[in-house]
This record gives sequence, structure tokens and C-alpha cells, in this order.
Amino acid sequence: MPGTSRREALALGFAAAAMPMLAGGARAAVLKYTLNPVAIAPGVWTIYGLPEPITSKNGGAIANITIFDTSEGAVLIDAGPSHRYGEALKAKATELTGKPVVRVYLTHYHTDHVLGATAFESGTVSAGKTLTADLKKVGNDLTNAMYRVAGDWMRGTDIPTPGREAAEGVETVGERRFRLLPLAGHTSEDLCLYEESTGLLFPGDLVFLDRAATTPDARIDTWRTSLKTLGGIDHKLLVPGHGPVEAGTRGIAQTGRWLDTVEAQINDGFERGLDITELMAVPLPSWTDGIAVAKYEYARSVMHLMPGLEVARLPRLTRV
Ligand SMILES: [Zn+2]
Repeated sequence: MPGTSRREALALGFAAAAMPMLAGGARAAVLKYTLNPVAIAPGVWTIYGLPEPITSKNGGAIANITIFDTSEGAVLIDAGPSHRYGEALKAKATELTGKPVVRVYLTHYHTDHVLGATAFESGTVSAGKTLTADLKKVGNDLTNAMYRVAGDWMRGTDIPTPGREAAEGVETVGERRFRLLPLAGHTSEDLCLYEESTGLLFPGDLVFLDRAATTPDARIDTWRTSLKTLGGIDHKLLVPGHGPVEAGTRGIAQTGRWLDTVEAQINDGFERGLDITELMAVPLPSWTDGIAVAKYEYARSVMHLMPGLEVARLPRLTRV
């Protein structure tokens, strides 16, 4: 399309998605993830996710994905939101390292992190026992939800079936040594990885930085315990599931503060008898001003956490 900008081409692509009579091939050619890896250590690159919710514009590319070069091949931490993303990631990892991808670690079962895994050999995809079981249980529902939100980006995406079990301990790939530590709280299993040769710490979505944490499957008390554990792991750089890579523990502290704030505000509103709509309208404290999608995630957290409070605190009428 000479003279057509990328933005216009994308707009045409989305218009085409709404008109099924148009040929699908043209749409497939338009939707393309642009992956921009940033070097964070020698032979290690992070592809930053956008600080946004999942939309039909970003195709779900909102989570951080990391590529390690090793003498045996490329190692990935998480695989992105769709088969199409996984294919682009595989090509980028091979281009950067000159080697095939030999290991893909999945941190937790949320779609923005795992659905790209279908682009890789099942035997190279490593996940904790609980994560793999959760994918079997709810993978279908999660994938369907992604199709509804991200649309055509998802074409060809299926539920990953990890062929390797990520258990607690050290796994060596070439000169890299990955310490695996299954934690929980953001989901039923959150795999934390620490790579010894670089001092990089990967807490998955147990840590969000400058982007509000998501809580659809959270157990807040367990999450707090995991944050404490993470705080005790000495590291050079922390690579959060979402947000900038940094030295220090700002992400751990900020995620804890966010959880405290949201939980306290929801508890307080509940005690004051506010309903869900009223509670969503309560403003967040000013310290959250610099946190991306804070209002949006707070509203979602109200929906996730209120029903649990109602069950726990309201009188059980059946006993009367
Ligand atoms: Zn995520």
C-alpha cells in the first residue's frame, strides 16, 4: 500500500476484521508485533510490555519478556500473549543469539505471559506443576477471553502444553544457572527465577513497577509472604513482570504498598456500606498518580475482591 502509514494500515486491518467478507490473508499480513529488545546485561535482552490493559490495538503485548543467550541456545522468560507473538519472539531470539530457543520458562498462567508458548517445541517449554494443571483447567476460558479482547492478533493461538516441569532447584543451560523458586499469591503458582551469572531476578507478576498490579486470581496474604521472600534475595537487577528493569527493591515495595492501599480502601468502603459502583468511584491516594492504569486496575480489583468480602463478612442467612 504505497503512501499508507503503519497506523493507517493498522486501522485498515482492524476495519477488515469487522468485515468478514474481506480476505483473511490481507489482515494477517497487517497485524505484526514490533519487538524492540533492550540489552539489560551481557547477552540478555528484555522486550518491554506496554503499560496498558490488553486491547485489540496492542494485541496483548503488555508483559516483559526476556531473552538469554547461552552457549547451548536461547533461553526465554515468558512467551507473550499469542501464537503470533511467539513466532516473532522465536525469530528475534534466533536473530540476537544466532541459536535456536532451547528453553522457555513460564512464570504463571496469565495469557499475556504464556500463550506465545505454542510457537515453541513442547519439550522446551518449562512450567511448574500447578501452572500446567491450571492451564488444563482454565486455559480454554482464558484463551477465549483473549480472542474476545485482542481479536485477530490471536489467530492460531491455542493452549500451551508445557513438556518440562519447573521444580524448585538450580537448572543449568550452557554458562547460565537458573535458580527456580515456585512462589504464589498473584496466581496459584508464580515461578520466580534468579540467574546466578548475571544476578538478574525475575519475580514474574509478583512484582509490578510503575504499573498497577492485577488481582483477578490473587490471594493477597500469600502475595505479601512472597514479596517478603523476594525482598530477601540479593540481586543486581530486578526484572518485573510489568514495568522498568531496575536495581534495588523499589518494585517489591511498591507492589506491597499498592496491595495494602487497594485492600484497605476496599475494606473501608465495605465497612461504610458502599456498593461496588460507589467503591469504584472512591479516589486513590495521590502517591498512585505515577502508576500506569491505576484507576482501571483498582476498579477491576473492586470487582475481584468485593465478592470475597461479602461472603466472609455478611451474615449467612441460611443459618437464621
Ligand atoms: Zn502479566
